[in-house]
Amino acid sequence: MDADKAADFIRQLIELVGSDHVISDVQDKQAYLLENRGLYQGEALAVVKPSNALEISQIVTLCRIANVPVSPQGGNTGLVGGQTPKSGLVISLTRMHKIYDADAVNGSITVEAGATLQMVQDAARESGCLFPLSLASEGTCQIGGNIASNAGGTAVLRYGNMRNLVLGLEVVLPDGRIWNGLRALHKDNAGYDLKQLFIGSEGTLGIITRAVLKIYPAVKSSMTAFTGLDSPEAALEFFLHTKNQAGEMLSAFEIMPRFGLEMVVRHMGGIDPFETPYPFYALIDLSSTSQFIDLTLSMEHVLETALNKNLVLNAVIASSQMQADKLWSLRENMSWAQKYEGGSIKHDVSVPISKIADFITQATLLCQSAMPDIRVCAFGHMGDGNIHFNLSQPVTMEKSVFLSHWAQLNRIIHDLVVSLNGSIAAEHGIGQLKVDELAHYKDDISLDLMRSIKAAIDPSKIMNPGKIIN
Ligand SMILES: Cc1cc2nc3c(=O)[nH]c(=O)nc-3n(C[C@H](O)[C@H](O)[C@H](O)COP(=O)(O)OP(=O)(O)OC[C@H]3O[C@@H](n4cnc5c(N)ncnc54)[C@H](O)[C@@H]3O)c2cc1C
Repeated sequence: MDADKAADFIRQLIELVGSDHVISDVQDKQAYLLENRGLYQGEALAVVKPSNALEISQIVTLCRIANVPVSPQGGNTGLVGGQTPKSGLVISLTRMHKIYDADAVNGSITVEAGATLQMVQDAARESGCLFPLSLASEGTCQIGGNIASNAGGTAVLRYGNMRNLVLGLEVVLPDGRIWNGLRALHKDNAGYDLKQLFIGSEGTLGIITRAVLKIYPAVKSSMTAFTGLDSPEAALEFFLHTKNQAGEMLSAFEIMPRFGLEMVVRHMGGIDPFETPYPFYALIDLSSTSQFIDLTLSMEHVLETALNKNLVLNAVIASSQMQADKLWSLRENMSWAQKYEGGSIKHDVSVPISKIADFITQATLLCQSAMPDIRVCAFGHMGDGNIHFNLSQPVTMEKSVFLSHWAQLNRIIHDLVVSLNGSIAAEHGIGQLKVDELAHYKDDISLDLMRSIKAAIDPSKIMNPGKIIN
């Protein structure tokens, strides 16, 4: 677009939303163009901050007529560059954060897409309920971003990921129409379930403007324990043991290796709960929405029987919320801690839960034979099959040399994942990071169907181009 046309386009945007809500200054735009960790630097004509779906519809219509690409953006916390524009316009949902009614009887709450996850959690809590999605980025990430990326987190084991938590959606389509699927129904088999198309579509099919979300009875009690284990195999057996004994009370089962714990202790002020080191650890949460359940008894029984069977080598139970938070911080700081260890190459993958131990063991051996001193940090959500298989550079290697092996190590891990019938993108999505990997691993029929859906909904290809599929 030449300078005159660009100026005219920006003038039209200002007419629609007011000059305070159109950002075209190079420096002011930068916060929206630079990804959280500085990994992606985007380009855009302007950032626009509408206040409702109608304004978004008008902006998108302008863009369609002028053939200007549109990138929806929430809290800009995505980890695969989906929110970083390649050109055109960023539509930021930041001003759209209303929370409407919480209906405890129906188990639902209606919110605007720009509400942060934390605002929604707080609103549910104020109504005596629970919105169970929980991510370390919850103070900043927005519900629209959570839906568009089908976010997971630590409670997926019990409540499912975002896909399971959405009852209805309102979406501005790439042609400017507003699709009203804002239903609060727990059962609805009237044709295709269209909302599911937009969940996890990473802004490539439309802009989510409002959502009806499921809320649950508040948790009455919870209990956290940290355990030392011999191996990923022992972790898997312990998971099965805990699931069988605690049933639906099991709300989180996270694993981490010794190297991960050492990093958090070294760089993030974490405290190792044990005097003796163990090769692996599992952090578990039991929780109950019933006031009649004695969780202390349940947790003690789970751990005692696991210790007797040698599934677990050592265990501590948090005796206060502060202790529980400290144990959880060991897990939550793991990703951040890694950046102090030089270059890292990360894989967000899933395999069937029964294959997790095989995957970790085989992937570790394959990486070590490709690069003998590589340091493996395989941690995450054993309870839902999602492992963050992160690699840190050998201590003596140059960071740039290590990072030059990115494609080779990706291939090793992703080939193994696919051979185990797993997914190369379990939680964070495809964004721009994994577009080529998706094209490499998805079968032709799946790619064909995905391209057909994209072409049917966004024939002008203006909605977040360059993300998911080309
Ligand atoms: C510390 C940290 C911890 C994290 N932990 C987790 C975790 O445990 N689990 C997990 O799943 N993710 C995690 N993430 C990743 C990220 O927080 C999630 O993907 C989150 O859901 C993104 O929300 P956002 O509002 O920041 O979206 P953005 O980053 O702004 O956008 C993400 C994608 O959604 C699209 N999008 C945003 N808003 C809309 C909308 N209204 N309509 C249509 N498309 C839209 C964007 O175009 C982009 O493709 C973590 C990130 C950080 C920084």
